[in-house]
Formats: sequence, structure tokens, C-alpha cells
Amino acid sequence: MSSLKTCFRYGLVIGCAVAVACPVLGQTPTDPSPPAIPDPAFIDQENLAQAEPFDLRQVRILDGICKTNEDLDEKYLLSLDPDRLLHNFRVNAGIPSTAQPLGGWEDPKCGLRGHFVGHYLSACAEMYAATGDQQLLARGTYVVTELGKCQDALGSGYLSAFPTTAFDTLETKYGGVWAPYYTIHKIMAGLLDQYHYCGNRQALEIAIKMADYFRGRMAKLTPDQIDKVLHTVGRGPQNEYGGMSEVLHNIYAITKKPEYLEFADVFDRSWVLNPLAMSQDHLDGLHANTHIPQVIGFARHYELTGDPRYQRAADYFWTQVTEHHSYVTGSNSKAEHFLAPDVEANALGADTGETCNVYNMLKLTQHIFAWKADAASADYYELALYNHILGSIDPDTGMTTYFMSLKPGHFKIYGTPDTSFWCCNGTGIENHAKYGAAIYYHHADTLWVNLFIPSQLTWAEKGLSVTQDTTFPESDETTLTITASHPTPLKVLLRVPYWETKGALLKINGQSQAVDATPGSYVTLDRTWQTGDKIEFTLPMTLHLHRAADNPNMVAIMYGPLVLAGDLGRDGVPANDNVSKNNAFFKIPDPPVPGLSGDSTDLDSWIKPVTGQPLTFTTLNAGHPDDVQLKPFYAIHHQRYSVYWQFSDSTRTTSTP
Ligand SMILES: [Zn+2]
Repeated sequence: MSSLKTCFRYGLVIGCAVAVACPVLGQTPTDPSPPAIPDPAFIDQENLAQAEPFDLRQVRILDGICKTNEDLDEKYLLSLDPDRLLHNFRVNAGIPSTAQPLGGWEDPKCGLRGHFVGHYLSACAEMYAATGDQQLLARGTYVVTELGKCQDALGSGYLSAFPTTAFDTLETKYGGVWAPYYTIHKIMAGLLDQYHYCGNRQALEIAIKMADYFRGRMAKLTPDQIDKVLHTVGRGPQNEYGGMSEVLHNIYAITKKPEYLEFADVFDRSWVLNPLAMSQDHLDGLHANTHIPQVIGFARHYELTGDPRYQRAADYFWTQVTEHHSYVTGSNSKAEHFLAPDVEANALGADTGETCNVYNMLKLTQHIFAWKADAASADYYELALYNHILGSIDPDTGMTTYFMSLKPGHFKIYGTPDTSFWCCNGTGIENHAKYGAAIYYHHADTLWVNLFIPSQLTWAEKGLSVTQDTTFPESDETTLTITASHPTPLKVLLRVPYWETKGALLKINGQSQAVDATPGSYVTLDRTWQTGDKIEFTLPMTLHLHRAADNPNMVAIMYGPLVLAGDLGRDGVPANDNVSKNNAFFKIPDPPVPGLSGDSTDLDSWIKPVTGQPLTFTTLNAGHPDDVQLKPFYAIHHQRYSVYWQFSDSTRTTSTP
């Protein structure tokens, strides 16, 4: 299990400061939401940022596949009973509760109880920011108020759904408890999100009291004890501590009090940092989602102090994970752990691709993009968003996946409304509230368009809004329409993805323009924009092969940014795949999966589009023993599938590399 959240909206930079200085951002004139809090002032390091994200409040998702998922998620958030969520906190604080306890990882006996409540605070805040729905504001406010009562009743600043004895055990036995700091991080991060997006100052006060409590607690330990408490080496670390570094860095960014920076860095362990800063890949065997949040902490440290060692470590880690530890979908890990670099085909299993890890890699990618403004990191964001996140929610129930199996012939499984509460259900409720987080970026007089998601951007500082109309990826076209309060000089940078090998097409106000950009770069439109200006951008998609790093005869088939999966029917798939145990079906036998053969230099000759069904293809005399129908992996649910195929390349004289 594991995970974490919070982009660097508390951080780096002017971008965030500018964003929240504008009271109308993302709000309609009738939106009665409180003015945004003047954002955490930051250390003055704006020169570190090449591009700043827009605040979630500035971007509305319009109708399409992302909006459908956002709606499913919002419905689930509103279906949860906050008193049931609060039950364990109240019991732990000696406050009477008659609510029916939840199950799964929120069960009153589960060591991780309370973690989901932190995610719930985050998700309600993010969904409120993304949609303006007042019900979510009210939910978050209620839970924060009640958690404040629990903290007051406990009296020390401590706040959790389990007693402090969990930390006594951790500090003396260095194990024997699940992951208490992991859970504390979720709650603190949720509180900061309530502060940031909902203007809830009490939430910030509660989080600071928690930081003070744990700072005092850690101060009583010797360096040796701290080292053992935070020793996350090996398989299944009992002391996985999530994004404690990140959330404490964010408290430092808000308060500017150096003690929080100092405390944050207690969680930045040199044995993790130093090899990465020296470009040494020591990830083999490490628990993936324990360490991705640690590296997000390094990213925040760099942003708040300018220390380049932390940037080098974060940048190197990101590159290694995305290029040498990831599957074709952008996910990583086998049984939650990193393997040696470039192990891919040999790792495929029902327990590949933990959803929390993708959540955290996307968050790290937001930092990387802000530092570099490079198309490569935006390409990865698109890959992982479309091929993991988008397909990680059951379209029928709104429940989310833990692993997204890449085992040929297996299927996805999802949690339940109130008996699973896995780590990935926690990050899951946040994933689908954040589609607006990385579509657009800005810096001075530059606007980046990184993702082709139907959306409306309100850039109040510029008196500008941009509406993106598209059915991408079902269509390969997107249209951006500008509304400007006055003629506005602006460079608009459109991402030309790495997969765009056929040549992007561009029109401005109906006039064709030359596209002077190679795949994996940007086309720059530098002009003065006015209301009604239209940019039409077409990105023709082609079929292409991904070969596994450790076996070129194991391939995945892609179309544009999309990983295609083969529909292998429903035989043996349980009637109900929304279950309490994430490993419930690991041992169900899977049928043999067809192999494929064809000309790798001419995929169009053996993979044919199915008429009338967008993004659907069938192999033609290429499947052995049978041909297969291929669909976007994100659209595959409640059925067996394969993403990877044994492949015999008819253009090769030998099938070995
Ligand atoms: Zn997880």
C-alpha cells in the first residue's frame, strides 16, 4: 500500500501566488465560495520555475471522458457518510460515536484507519476547486470542524484515528505497526488542501498543531532511533511514511518558520538522496510508493531552498523511473516494489501497476515540468493519465482499482463503497478530481497547452479565457477559442507529442499555418490575441509498437497516446469484480493468450480499424490461434484483456533480438 498528494501549489513560486491573488479565478460571478487564502508565501525562488501550473480553480473540465469520471467520483464523495468516516477519530478521542464503522482499511481494528479520511479531505477540496460544488465545501468544513474537536479532546496536538501507542511501538520496536506516519501524512495533506482550496483556516491550525506534536515527539529520539524509525529498505517496510517531508515543507512554505523546514528534512534520508543526486539507480527492491513521495519531498526542498542536489536527485529519479522502471502504461512496480532497471516483460503480473504510484509519479512530473517546461515530461503525463488513471475507475460503480493488472489474460478489479478503502481508493478519489491540474501552464507571457482535454481556462490576471473543445482521443482535433478583455500579446505553446510522426496540422482563424516543430516539442504561436480567435490543432494518430525493454518479442500496440488492449472475453471473470480484498482473484487461472505476428514496419497491414467504432481495431490474420479486437486500455472493464503480446516479426529473419 501507499501514497501521497499535493502539487506544488504551496510552493515554488509566483504562479501560485499570482493565482490566488485573483479573487475571481475559476469562479462564476454567482459562486459564493470564500476568497482564496493569500497563498502561502514562498521563499523567493521564482527564478527556479520555467512554467507554473494553474490552480485547479482556474480550470473547468467540460463534457467528455474525463468529465464522466469526475462526475462518478463526485457522486461517490457525496455518498459517503462523514460521521462514519469520523467514527474512529471520535472513538480514539473519547467522543461518543454511534455511527456504523466502515470496513476494509478503515475498519476500527485496521492499523491504517484514518488514512482515507485524509484523502477524503483532499478530494473534497480538489473537487470543490474543480467544480465549485458547495456540497463538497460543506462536507470538508464539517469533517475539519469535527476533527478539530477530536484534537482538542486529545489535548496534545495529536490527531489520528488510532492511539499514540502506535508511535510508541514504532519508536521502540521499529516495526509491529503498519504505517502510522503514512496515515498522519494523509490527514495533514488533507487539512492543507482544505486550507488552500476552501479557505479553511482551522484546517491549517490543526495541521500545524499536528506538526508541532510530531516535531516534539521526534526531538526526543536519538539519531540512531530516527534512522531505524525511517528505515524504509527492503520488502514491505513497516514504517512507510508517505509524504511527511512534502507536507512539512508545505507548512514551512506557509509559515516561513525554519523549524518546519528542519523537521521536514528529518524525513529526507541521505541514504535515499545521495545516490540519486550522484545519478546512481539504487531502486531495485525498494518499495516503490514509499520512495516516490520521498522524492516529491526532495522536489519541494529544492523549490524552497534552491539546493541543486535535491533537484538532481528528483530529476534523475524521475528519468530512471519513467524510462527504466515503467510499463507501457506509465505505471510501475511489481508487487509494489521496484525491480532492476529495464525488467518489464519478466514482471507482468496481476499485481503490477499500483495506482498510488501513478498518482505520485504524476505529481512528481508536475514539478519536473515546472522546472524544465519540456515536452518529454508532458508526454509522460499524458501517457500515464490516459493509460492508467483514466481506466482505473469502474464506469458502472465509480469504484477504483488497486493494481491495474498487466498479466496477459487477467482483468481489473475494483474496491467497494465501504469495505475496501485501500491506499489506491484513497488516491483514487483524488485522481478523478484533478484532471484540470496539468492541462495548461503559464509563465509571464507564455501559455502552454499540454493536454487535449475539453476544458475552460480562466486566466484572470491576463483578462483571458481559453475554451478547448475536443473529443480527443476519439477525434484527433482540438479547437481552442480565446476570449480576451483586450488584445493580448501572448506566446501560445502547443505540445506536439512524441507520437505525432505523421505531422500536426494547424489553423488560426481558419488559415493554415506551417507547423515548425518535431515530435516531442512545442509549436509556438506568438501573436496578439483577441476575442473570437480560434486555434484548430490536428494531431493525426498512427499505430506504433512498444517493445518490452527486456524482451523485444513482447510488444504492446499503441495508437497515438493510447495503449490498446485486446478484448479476451469474460470467461471465468467473477460476476462481481468490486471486492473488499484487492488480491481476491490473484489465483484465478487465466486462459492462454493469443500470440501475434506481422510486419513491425507496417502495422496498418494487419491491424485494421473497425468501422463505426472509434479507437477500435481488429487484427487481420495475425492472431494465433485467433485474431483479437483491440480497444483503448482505459475503456476495458469487466473482461479479460492483454496489453502485452508475444510477437513474431515477419520483417525479421530471426525472432531473437
Ligand atoms: Zn495504493
